[in-house]
Amino acid sequence: MKHKKSICWFRNDLRLHDNITLTKALQHSDEVIPVFCVDPRSYQITPFNLEKTGPFRAKFIRESLVDLKNNLQTKGADLVVLTGYPEKTLVAFAEEHQATAIYFSQEATDEERQVETSLEKNAKTKGINIHSYSQATLFHADDLPFPIPRVPEVFTTFRKACEKESEIRHLLPPPVSIPFPTNLISTGEIPTLEELGLEDPVPTGKAAFAFKGGESEGLNRVAHYLWETDCIAQYKQTRNGMLGADYSSKFSPWLAVGALSPRWIHSEIQRYEKDVVKNDSTYWLVFELIWRDYFRFISKKHGNNIFKRSGIQSDERRWKQDKGLFNAWAAGQTGVPFIDANMRELNQTGFMSNRGRQLVASFFANDMGMDWTWGAAYFESKLIDYDVCSNWANWMYVAGVGNDPRTDRYFNLITQAKNYDPQGDYVRQWLPELRKITGIDIHRPDHIPKSKLLSLGINLGIDYPHKVVKPKIW
Ligand SMILES: Cc1cc2nc3c(=O)[nH]c(=O)nc-3n(C[C@H](O)[C@H](O)[C@H](O)COP(=O)(O)OP(=O)(O)OC[C@H]3O[C@@H](n4cnc5c(N)ncnc54)[C@H](O)[C@@H]3O)c2cc1C
Repeated sequence: MKHKKSICWFRNDLRLHDNITLTKALQHSDEVIPVFCVDPRSYQITPFNLEKTGPFRAKFIRESLVDLKNNLQTKGADLVVLTGYPEKTLVAFAEEHQATAIYFSQEATDEERQVETSLEKNAKTKGINIHSYSQATLFHADDLPFPIPRVPEVFTTFRKACEKESEIRHLLPPPVSIPFPTNLISTGEIPTLEELGLEDPVPTGKAAFAFKGGESEGLNRVAHYLWETDCIAQYKQTRNGMLGADYSSKFSPWLAVGALSPRWIHSEIQRYEKDVVKNDSTYWLVFELIWRDYFRFISKKHGNNIFKRSGIQSDERRWKQDKGLFNAWAAGQTGVPFIDANMRELNQTGFMSNRGRQLVASFFANDMGMDWTWGAAYFESKLIDYDVCSNWANWMYVAGVGNDPRTDRYFNLITQAKNYDPQGDYVRQWLPELRKITGIDIHRPDHIPKSKLLSLGINLGIDYPHKVVKPKIW
């Protein structure tokens, strides 16, 4: 069946390349109206008293929309921006413009799925067709060697089965042109941060990387990491770094809003392996993308359990809900320099390395004994690359209530600090109050004689806090 006019509802798929939803809408419609809906629920204050979407991510999404609008205009179309609950606003818009179908990409978790169900219900009452597609992952859900309820609980089992038995689907090209109705008078404005009730993030000169949203910037970043610098050829050795722009790919914010397709990254890596070099590092980036898939499928399998304190283990451990400890951790004031440096990087840039995330999450759940869902909610608010499945499932995993629970996932922070910040440069960058301490001693200011600290102008307990917890194992 061909529709005279359809809506292509953009969600976390803000791109023209490899976009099945847009491709299908174009194949089956004479005219297509690309729409983005600003959902006020995404900008609310959460029950944790935090902004659901903080300024760094809001800015990145805004930039991605501006880029999408420009790219659509080069294809003869435009981006219509609406504000409201998509399940109501989109149906009203479709009715007003006599569109007979809405195309969109499916999400994996409950809040988003509820919107899809309500949209479908409301659209049906108005005779509007709904067509939705799964496309966020490297391996398509329908091509997995097992149905979702039987996704293995151990990552290695999942990965090996996918690598052996599943194929990654071919890329879809961006459209050549998009037939767009000529009588559409207003396309609406992309809201500013102020209109969303947020303040512009204050730039810090210390950020590892200046993220800018949009498909164009995402594609540039892939070109940089592969073709211009060959960084990918050393990725496995550098990926646990913490300082600088290129120790890891930094693809995550574009992947989170769908400005980059994981299949497109994969195809570029294959091309690089053919033309330049194929080694452990080029494979390892694909390996990490499979982790991303894994957490998405695990989230689909376990539904709302990923948001519960007991996780998917029905673990009834008692977690602390201590506001003082939470505030110290969130502000980077725990008295543990390696933790505080990472939290301050997050607060000042919206980004934190993978190593940093594992350490601050482990410290929060395993050393402070704090309710890990509070930590996950804080990340949700702050991360520029927040992805509901990657975030909550990683937190569960680190807290020991997720997949593959093992008792040896505990991180001794002092050993970690020595391994990953051996000269203390990372801590020196983010904790100016300790800058004068040279070398690795910066990781343990409490082990430096008081007189020496005072001679450096540091009064422990005043200029920098005493440790809020003292795990015996250190
Ligand atoms: C507690 C915790 C919370 C996290 N929250 C998020 C989140 O909200 N959004 C998010 O995208 N990632 C999250 N991660 C995973 C990981 O830390 C980031 O994807 C990574 O640091 C992003 O930097 P990069 O793109 O340079 O990564 P690279 O090392 O270059 O990896 C390439 C890509 O692989 C994927 N990837 C790598 N590691 C993981 C992982 N452990 N889990 C899932 N995907 C992975 C990402 O898409 C990443 O962009 C979290 C990890 C932890 C431990």
